[in-house]
Amino acid sequence: MEFTGVKEKTLVIIKPDAIQRGLLGQVTARFEQKGLKLVATKMAYLKQETLREHYAHIAEKPFYPAVEKFMMSSPAVIQCWEGLDVVNTVRLITGITKAREAEAGSIRGDFAMSVACNVIHASDSIENAQAEVARFFEASEIHEYDKSDYQHVYAEEERTK
Ligand code: ADP
Repeated sequence: MEFTGVKEKTLVIIKPDAIQRGLLGQVTARFEQKGLKLVATKMAYLKQETLREHYAHIAEKPFYPAVEKFMMSSPAVIQCWEGLDVVNTVRLITGITKAREAEAGSIRGDFAMSVACNVIHASDSIENAQAEVARFFEASEIHEYDKSDYQHVYAEEERTK
């Protein structure tokens, strides 16, 4: 799977709080209106063992059991977005972890108040994005297609990267 140029991919999880609060459409719209390409999406209950892998970097923190419980409290929507520098772009649109201090205009800045219930997960590096996309999606679930607006979303030299 290609992870370079306009084919760079990142993983987004729209968390249970967002699903419960009816924010799926608005959060997804932020990425669509930015010009990103949705290449995979599904709804699922996240499994404990998957979360342990996904959140290995916080697994020893005292708050981890609560994070796990929250992430399994109802289904989440998992998405893979594609675009030039998409990992960085999606992190900027997401905003910082502590949502009540996240920049206005970011998803967390506009939709959340909590550190834990902060609406969305987004991969934080190209390396992690590759691992996370492979963790949550089979290759057959990721769809390659031409997006007709690309000639207006990108300049020609960006499109051919
Ligand atoms: P981010 O999701 O912004 O990349 P981290 O990887 O540090 O942040 O943390 C993963 C998730 O764990 C956060 O999105 C949040 O849901 C939860 N979390 C992080 N720090 C805390 C904390 N201090 N208290 C409660 N939950 C936390």
